Parts: sequence; structure tokens; C-alpha cells
Amino acid sequence: MVETVEGVAKNLEAVRTRIGELSAKCGIKEPRLVAVSKLQPDQLIVDAHAAGQKCFGENYVKELVGKAPGLPADIEWHFIGMLQSNKAKTLVSGVPNLAVVESVHSAKTASALEKACVGAGRTQKLKVMIQVLTSGEESKSGCDPEECTVIAQHIKDDCPLLELVGLMTIGKFGDPNPEPYFQVLKQCRARVAQSLGIAEDALELSMGMSGDYDKAIAAGSTSVRVGTSIFGLRPPKSS
Ligand SMILES: *Cc1c(COP(=O)(O)O)cnc(C)c1O
Repeated sequence: MVETVEGVAKNLEAVRTRIGELSAKCGIKEPRLVAVSKLQPDQLIVDAHAAGQKCFGENYVKELVGKAPGLPADIEWHFIGMLQSNKAKTLVSGVPNLAVVESVHSAKTASALEKACVGAGRTQKLKVMIQVLTSGEESKSGCDPEECTVIAQHIKDDCPLLELVGLMTIGKFGDPNPEPYFQVLKQCRARVAQSLGIAEDALELSMGMSGDYDKAIAAGSTSVRVGTSIFGLRPPKSS
């Protein structure tokens, strides 16, 4: 996995091919591929974009707000990192082509995003997903599975500039069997759909990373977030 123009295009191609094969085998619609570019040099994003990639995922508000204006405007940015409420405004106003915030983990975060959208004069709804902590690990973010219906109702009732489009989970890092975490996310989706009175397939399942996207696709993922397999190992975070 070399971090060169050719390397990125080749890796991307390999991941796309694999996703295509897996979803064909499972008889499901191909999930979206979000290329996770956090901490990677801008040039690699430019290279992936030149190779046809439109969706990119980022974890840090400061980093994304710094790099987004200098990168192609047709990129659809997915924010997938821990979002503190006091950073919502910076994120929304600093990234006009912010497509989805996948990491809404509380009603408070949703309200902060709503307020930020009003403040930024956004007329188009901002798509959001509820991040669920499916592994119970203290170190990861996400809401308790029991809380997802309340957060979903809050978004529907009190956040007119937000549109709930799905649920997201990380699972458990390094666990060779991520299946239980994917199942918890699916159960959350079923409960949210029922409580909102909408069809389950109106809500996406964002699950699957470099190490487990094959299993996530088999479990019904509609959006996979792949970093390392496309861009290579990440440089360390300097903070
Ligand atoms: C970093 C990150 C990814 C990508 O992980 P890889 O293992 O590099 O594919 C996906 N999702 C989230 C939430 C992340 O923080």
C-alpha cells in the first residue's frame, strides 16, 4: 500500500471491485463508499477525487475546516468524528459542502447542529445519522442503543433543518467477529423506523471499515467507511 497517485487509484479500484463482488454475492444494492481521509495529505484526496471518488469522511473539525476550502467543491464531506456541541457552528459554517454528519450522539448535538444551520443561513437540510455505541466500550463515542429513538424523535420534532437519514456504528476495534455490533445497529434501525412510522429501508446503516467491511456488507450495510485500505496507514495525529 504505497501512498502515491497510482497507489491510491489502484487501492480505490480494488476496494470498489471488492464491494461490487460482495454486494452481488449477497444480492444487495452496492453500499456507498466513503473514503476516510483523516490525517492524510491533501494530495491523496485530490488523487482519489481524480479517480472518481466523491464522498470523503473526516473526523476532526479543525482539520476538515482547514482543508475543505482548498479541495474540490463537489466533494461530499461526511463528518464521522466525535462532535462536541461547541464545534457544531465551526463545522457547519466552515464546510459549505458538508453532506452528512454521521456522528450525532445526543439530542444536544442535534440541537447544536440545528442552531448552526440556522446561523449559517443553510436552506438545504443537513443530513444526519445517529451514532450508536454498539460495543459498550467507554472509550468510543455514540449513544446508548436505548437512546436512539428519543434522539430520532427530537430530530424530527425540533430540528427542521436536519434530516435523519440513518444510523452509524464503529463496532469494536480489532474484534474478529463484528457481527453482534452490526446486529445491534440493525435492531436500533428497526426501533427508530417503527417509532417514527417509516420504512426501515428509509434509514441507512453506516457500518464497516477497512478491517470488516466485507462482513458489514453481508450484514446489510448501505454505507462503508474505508480509510487505510485506500490511503495506507495514517500519519500520527499531532493535535
Ligand atoms: C478512521 C475511521 C474509519 C476508517 O478506518 P480504517 O480502518 O482506516 O478503514 C471509519 N470510521 C470511523 C468512524 C473512523 O474514525
